[in-house]
Amino acid sequence: VVSTGTEILQGLYADTNAQFIAEQLTSLGIQVVGIYAAPDDRAVLESTFRHVASTCNLVICSGGLGPTEDDINRDVFAAIWKTELHRDERALEMMRTRFLTRARGPMPESNEVQALVPTESTVLYNQWGTAPGFYLPARDGMPALVALPGPPKEMRPMFLESAKPLLENLAGGETISITRTVHTYGQPESYVNECCRNLFRADPRVALTILAKTYGVDLRIHASGPSNAAAQQLVRQYEEDIRSRLSPDEVYGADEQMLHDAVAELLIANRLTVAAAESCTGGLVSKLLTDVPGSSAYIKQGYVVYANEAKISVLGVCAETIDQHGAVSEQTAAEMAAGVRELAGSDFGIGVTGIAGPTGGTPDKPVGLTYIAIADKHRTRVQRSQFLGDREMNRIWAAQTALYLLRRRLLRWNASAAESE
Ligand code: ATP
Ligand code: MG
Repeated sequence: VVSTGTEILQGLYADTNAQFIAEQLTSLGIQVVGIYAAPDDRAVLESTFRHVASTCNLVICSGGLGPTEDDINRDVFAAIWKTELHRDERALEMMRTRFLTRARGPMPESNEVQALVPTESTVLYNQWGTAPGFYLPARDGMPALVALPGPPKEMRPMFLESAKPLLENLAGGETISITRTVHTYGQPESYVNECCRNLFRADPRVALTILAKTYGVDLRIHASGPSNAAAQQLVRQYEEDIRSRLSPDEVYGADEQMLHDAVAELLIANRLTVAAAESCTGGLVSKLLTDVPGSSAYIKQGYVVYANEAKISVLGVCAETIDQHGAVSEQTAAEMAAGVRELAGSDFGIGVTGIAGPTGGTPDKPVGLTYIAIADKHRTRVQRSQFLGDREMNRIWAAQTALYLLRRRLLRWNASAAESE
């Protein structure tokens, strides 16, 4: 993958084209062996393409197809791939029409160079801008080349609509790759790593990677097979294996399903409702719970209660509790959760109180200390957590932990409901 443009090397914009292309190629089962950025400089471009050509059998290049002096890629391609350029009449016509319909009048002559493409190439027409791209098949020891314009608004749709089908054919019959990301919460990366230790290199067709994210630890399964079904089967097998090594409390979802989605699903399935009273998370728990469309089915209300008076007057926390144990304490969290549940008439109440930092910590109650309570009609349980992040991270972890604890309670809900009858 080669991105061209002097501005990339000057740090003026991030090379998002390479990221997009690499992700797409990976999903096609095409292994990306290098990502390069080169300035609009003939000598550097030539040496970059010469080098790249010796390392792979497919090059995808973006940028440098404009009409200006610095857009020299098409000449460089012609020189390195030893091909002639010719004018593509349809591309020229599309460009002229685009100029006219966009009320810019007739197209300046300088734009005509953009219709120049290698003679042996398939033209990738551009409905989103002016410059066409092209696909030049592998030849004379040179890799295949896909050239696309630089602006992401043109490059992305052109890649998806024109380049991808050609590449699918190239890759087709060999391997299909599928990726699935399994999400966990509640255990550190080292623990998850330990549980899955002998899975990481168990099968050459599967690449398993572990990623610590802000919202939890992910396991990414990337499986390749001769067909979609074969790759799917491998992914399923790995996912089952991973789930059997961790507890259902810890594995809450996969791919786009986040913790709050999993919680919402369980609440809806069991026709249960929740309300939240938050101190250190400033409403983040409610925000996450309401990220899901249709959330009014299960969230009744949410309170952001920072002042002690508010905890007392709004939620009914006892003044003595705060006096005796402090606002950040197991007892206060418990009374917040039970209080908000009463107030809302919901099945569950969530209470969060903690010290997000960076100030406000004491030797007894350091920054990151957080109590999270979940109340239902039978009981109120409180978990004490000591988060070690900055303010932002402590708040995210506190909110995620609240959802994790609620989900854990929900997973046991049917059993405990039966038991109490
Ligand atoms: P144009 O006809 O607009 O000149 P071009 O094919 O010559 O198109 P460039 O001049 O290289 O493309 O880039 C045009 C603009 O597209 C850049 O200013 C930048 O905003 C965006 N762009 C180019 N390459 C990338 C990239 N690799 N990642 C993200 N944005 C890019
Ligand atoms: Mg340009």
